Amino acid sequence: MTFTPTDYLPYDFANRRHIGPSPSEMAEMCAVLGVDSLDALIDQTVPASIRQAAPLVFEKPKSERELIWHMRQVAQKNQVFTTMIGQGYHGTVTPPAIQRNILENPAWYTAYTPYQPEISQGRLEALLNYQTMVSDLTGLEIANASLLDEATAAAEAMTMAQRVTKSKATAFFVDENCHPQNIAVMQTRAAPLGIEVIVGDPEKDLDASKVFGAIFQYPGTYGHVRDFTAQIAALHGANALGIVIADPLALTLLKEPGAMGADIAVGSTQRFGVPMGFGGPHAAYMACKDALKRAMPGRIVGVSIDARGNKAYRLSLQTREQHIRREKATSNVCTAQALLAVMASFYAVFHGPEGLKAIAQRIHRKAERLRHGLVAGGYAVEPETFFDTITVEVGALQGVILEAGRRERINFRKVGATKIGLTVDETVRPATLEAVWRAFGLTCSRDDFPGDYSHFPADLGRETPYLTHPIFHLNRAETEMMRYMRRLADRDLALDRAMIPLGSCTMKLNAAVEMMPITWPEFSNIHPFAPADQVRGYHELIEDLSKKLCVITGYDAMSMQPNSGAQGEYAGLLTIAAYHRARGEAHRDLCLIPVSAHGTNPASAQMAGMEVVVVKSAENGDIDLDDFRAKAEAAGDRLAACMITYPSTHGVFEETVREVCAITHAHGGQVYLDGANLNALVGLAKPGEIGADVSHLNLHKTFAIPHGGGGPGMGPIGVKAHLAPYLPGHPETGGDEGPVSAAPWGSASILAISWAYCLLMGGEGLTQATKVAILNANYIAARLRGAYDILFTGKNGRVAHECILDTRPFAEAGITVDDIAKRLIDNGFHAPTMSWPVARTLMVEPTESETKAELDRFVTALLDIRAEIAAVERGDIDRENNPLKNAPHTVEDLVGDWDRPYSREQGCYPAGAFRVDKYWPPVNRVDNVWGDRHLVCTCPPVESYAKAAE
Ligand SMILES: *Cc1c(COP(=O)(O)O)cnc(C)c1O
Repeated sequence: MTFTPTDYLPYDFANRRHIGPSPSEMAEMCAVLGVDSLDALIDQTVPASIRQAAPLVFEKPKSERELIWHMRQVAQKNQVFTTMIGQGYHGTVTPPAIQRNILENPAWYTAYTPYQPEISQGRLEALLNYQTMVSDLTGLEIANASLLDEATAAAEAMTMAQRVTKSKATAFFVDENCHPQNIAVMQTRAAPLGIEVIVGDPEKDLDASKVFGAIFQYPGTYGHVRDFTAQIAALHGANALGIVIADPLALTLLKEPGAMGADIAVGSTQRFGVPMGFGGPHAAYMACKDALKRAMPGRIVGVSIDARGNKAYRLSLQTREQHIRREKATSNVCTAQALLAVMASFYAVFHGPEGLKAIAQRIHRKAERLRHGLVAGGYAVEPETFFDTITVEVGALQGVILEAGRRERINFRKVGATKIGLTVDETVRPATLEAVWRAFGLTCSRDDFPGDYSHFPADLGRETPYLTHPIFHLNRAETEMMRYMRRLADRDLALDRAMIPLGSCTMKLNAAVEMMPITWPEFSNIHPFAPADQVRGYHELIEDLSKKLCVITGYDAMSMQPNSGAQGEYAGLLTIAAYHRARGEAHRDLCLIPVSAHGTNPASAQMAGMEVVVVKSAENGDIDLDDFRAKAEAAGDRLAACMITYPSTHGVFEETVREVCAITHAHGGQVYLDGANLNALVGLAKPGEIGADVSHLNLHKTFAIPHGGGGPGMGPIGVKAHLAPYLPGHPETGGDEGPVSAAPWGSASILAISWAYCLLMGGEGLTQATKVAILNANYIAARLRGAYDILFTGKNGRVAHECILDTRPFAEAGITVDDIAKRLIDNGFHAPTMSWPVARTLMVEPTESETKAELDRFVTALLDIRAEIAAVERGDIDRENNPLKNAPHTVEDLVGDWDRPYSREQGCYPAGAFRVDKYWPPVNRVDNVWGDRHLVCTCPPVESYAKAAE
């Protein structure tokens, strides 16, 4: 066999970083597969009928140094001004301890969503701290572990209210003092669901009997601080719900939504130490009354016990989620903002309640002083009661003052034609105030207005305590903080320790150099509504990345707005619906979705106002073409779209994909192709050439954005030209359609990661990554075949970039898919995707990043597990008391009595485990049922900590 390094490295080492197997290892792997080159394997795997004609070509790939130099040039085209625009985004100081130990630490940012609780206890504790913080600040019992952004959270609260209300009304009231993007996103969400949105003044226009719920912004977008107790009482009188969008920092000083009687509170925790990032990512929160918890969207961390009865954290009430409920799910939210929620929670741990309150007081005092100066200078300033934001009437001077502000390198908010909004944040210094006064033509000094700092109505002061749990009262020395963060990180298994072979989730390398630019101030400290001439660097980045993604996918236009894959699905289906509407075909409202689709697909279709028609899978896992054709025909001119995944969720390149597209088009429908599996396509085939009209790309899967333990993500959508006019718009940037996210380019700052990835890899490197991803998956499949049944293969017996292992044959021996997943933890691995798309199977996706040694360790572990199963099958070991059923093993299993029919060594050190670098899960198997039965979603009392520490 001839396999020279040049087959693999056509130019330099630029792509070596992302590609696990070395050239000689790849040759060995090809030998195992019986092919004589990587390209031969690809030819056997990817049908010729879908292959792209021309290779993917971009400019020459950059070295790390070239990349950093280039990113610096681009960053410098952004101008970092002080921002007083407010409108839900604020300057904030990220404590360096958090930046370095969390945001820049792969132990935190490369973790997966905590579906395997035993290896996720660290981030689950941090998220529980987050929920406790939110619950305390809002005065509501239950909080979730984050949503995508404030506007999306407001829209989720609206639909949640509709689910639980006993009111018959179909209208929803929105406070006109909500931030404009919040109103717009709620309107977008409401339209397909038939909800009428009434925007008005809560004091004059709210008729509780006419609505199923109402939402208020607190403080309002122009600064007002109002008490909504009376309105909420009136809503309750009419069986409607009251929702408050609250600034969590303001809640350290102000009466909390719970005390106003609110049923739900939402908001953004951005100003808790998470930079603005030109729109994100940051964590939105949602809290609600206990009675509503089953209707809550998003993930909720809860407390349970492990097999020894010790306290253990886990995700609770998962039956609400789309994986199970599909189109009946509470929402389509899958990837959320875990990493940013963790940062915000540490900000609260770092400052404690007194520290947060002091920050809020300083902000209020400065806003107060600013107002004094402006009033003394003759300006009319509103409102009377405010926290951090004031609005100044400036008449015809608006343009002049905005410009004078810019000369001081400060951005103000343009409000209407004659007003200016000013919002103070943690970063505003006394000198900033003087500069603002100067811009308004006033000469005042910081000492002119000594502060009395309560500009709140007497009855709006906060009266209840918050953050009383000891975790928010650590010793304030950084030593303790640093060690707490390290302790939690050590409890988790992330990519910095082992492969995370998650089918469909593509847990690839997130290279250090790709992560570096996101914390540069030129990318992080930019308000999403900053003037266009200050964000030329961002525009260049977004344009070039869009262009590259269009070339990769064969689409004509991209929208960077959606903050996750699921939001991309929702945005894409809205785009399709708008297209049909524009052609006078608004009656098209059916969406064909294969039974094997990811749960977010039907959940998103429901949100877009479409009815889901489920299409069967054939025996071999492919879409059942006859059933598809029959259902498309039956749908007739109601057919709006189909949603397919390619390669299929079964990990196969279906030969019939072009036909599926053709049938859909023949009936007037549009093809939505779920792009989560793009890691099997880049450089080899293009969705836009196969026949699809729109796709989302999970940049946090295929394009190197880290998973962050469950977010952030970015799910931009690509569309063919005919759909481009119907992509999401935004109040700040225009467009005919409504927005799906709070910010025009979603979580813009992390686009830098995907851009860096493309620039480092070049077209050839990206193509090589795809090929090696397919090689790695086929290598695992080949090595495990025999020991395990590999379900679903293409016509040459190959899988795509992932493979599915059947565990159902072990049922007779009483061994479940969970037992294997937990036993993999003893071997130092995160389990593959469990029971999706087929119940009781494991879906393995190694990605191109894993070395042959790591693949071999994984194979060794699974073969060893198979031998253990065989021992149970033969009756050599007890069906209930064996290493599989008792997995995972902890250090607790090393001490005390031992009454098991296998050795401690076998239990704790199976074949895949490292001896010295052994990963020890902190808890034994977690009891899921117990946790849902005794639901606790905030930090448990100290005694349980004492017990855990014993
Ligand atoms: C991950 C995934 C999604 C959803 O993406 P999120 O970013 O988690 O919302 C949708 N479809 C498939 C096939 C996926 O794997």
